[in-house]
Amino acid sequence: MSKVFNFGAGPAKLPEEVYEIIKNELTNFENSGISLLETSHRSSTYMKLNVEIQDVVRNLLDVPDNYKVLFLAGGGLGQFAAVPLNLISRTGTADYVVTGAWSAKAAKEAKKYGKVNLVLPPTDKYEDIPDQTKWNLDPNASYVHICTNETIHGVEFDFIPDTKGVPLIADMSSNIMSKKVDVSKFGVIYAGAQKNIGTSGVALVIVREDLLNQALPTCPSLLDWTANYKQNSILNTPPMFAIYIMGRVLQWIQRNGGLEGMSQLATKKASLIYNTIEQSNGFYYAPVAKNVRSKMNVPFRIGCPGDDALEKEFLKGAETLGLIQLKGHRDVGGIRASIYNAVTLEEVQALVQYMEEFYKKHSK
Ligand SMILES: *Cc1c(COP(=O)(O)O)cnc(C)c1O
Repeated sequence: MSKVFNFGAGPAKLPEEVYEIIKNELTNFENSGISLLETSHRSSTYMKLNVEIQDVVRNLLDVPDNYKVLFLAGGGLGQFAAVPLNLISRTGTADYVVTGAWSAKAAKEAKKYGKVNLVLPPTDKYEDIPDQTKWNLDPNASYVHICTNETIHGVEFDFIPDTKGVPLIADMSSNIMSKKVDVSKFGVIYAGAQKNIGTSGVALVIVREDLLNQALPTCPSLLDWTANYKQNSILNTPPMFAIYIMGRVLQWIQRNGGLEGMSQLATKKASLIYNTIEQSNGFYYAPVAKNVRSKMNVPFRIGCPGDDALEKEFLKGAETLGLIQLKGHRDVGGIRASIYNAVTLEEVQALVQYMEEFYKKHSK
């Protein structure tokens, strides 16, 4: 098997170095004589790991002391329910800023538990984030929910909204740990791990203390941030292996320049692709407005609105070169290159070289 370059949107590529570490630790975790896979979640081994990974999260994101760091089962979708279940009780209503498929899904889930106010006019074309002066925020909302990076549509916030004191809740599943973030501007940050920081099954949740203790009485214990915090994220058997992998990925980020390093690399990689698109005289087309173009997920078309036959040929040719999982999401079509932290500059250069060759071959 020759080398494969994985541009999948998630579960996404993990750093090669992390695989080596996992291999070495798989059957004998930290000289315990057994694998972490068969270690008790109540053991001192796991307790130590649990705290160690919380510390890495705190260190990387500079998490203020009045925030709790939780590792919860159920991924991103679990938190779509956990957010209203833990927070909507204050006023019974919540603001959702829908900028793509994922925030739309979050809003839909929240409707089960209270009233949802859509801050932006409904659309099925997510290519921009309207200026904040045009937002219809409800001052009575229990919270304002945003998705900082829309994995499917490739729309990424380039600012932190001012919510006038209403807690800001952010789904950062696909851009967490790709750049520095001022945690103090948020009430809650959450992220499924399988895009940028690990594998599926676990969500990293960072909650401001004053937002605990207000869950709806019907909130399942599993999703109750307060109950989980009180047990240090060991309320039941947690997805230990997924949490462990997340920890090893976060330590890899620490060794590779931290969030500053990740951010510089992300800018470089994204610019390479967007510049190739811009310099193709319209052969390639990126639908998202320039200031909110994602540095993690780059959706693009060949031609505008998109030439299906040519896109198929592009994807087929890419696969023969080992450039895989580039097919756009079925809701959007076309092509999507996901270039999370673990995707190297060399891999992006290989993609860009293929894009240039394909363009030369097909443009007259
Ligand atoms: C993938 C993704 C989710 C869903 O994560 P699951 O762990 O599959 O539930 C939620 N939000 C965003 C932004 C995502 O990219």
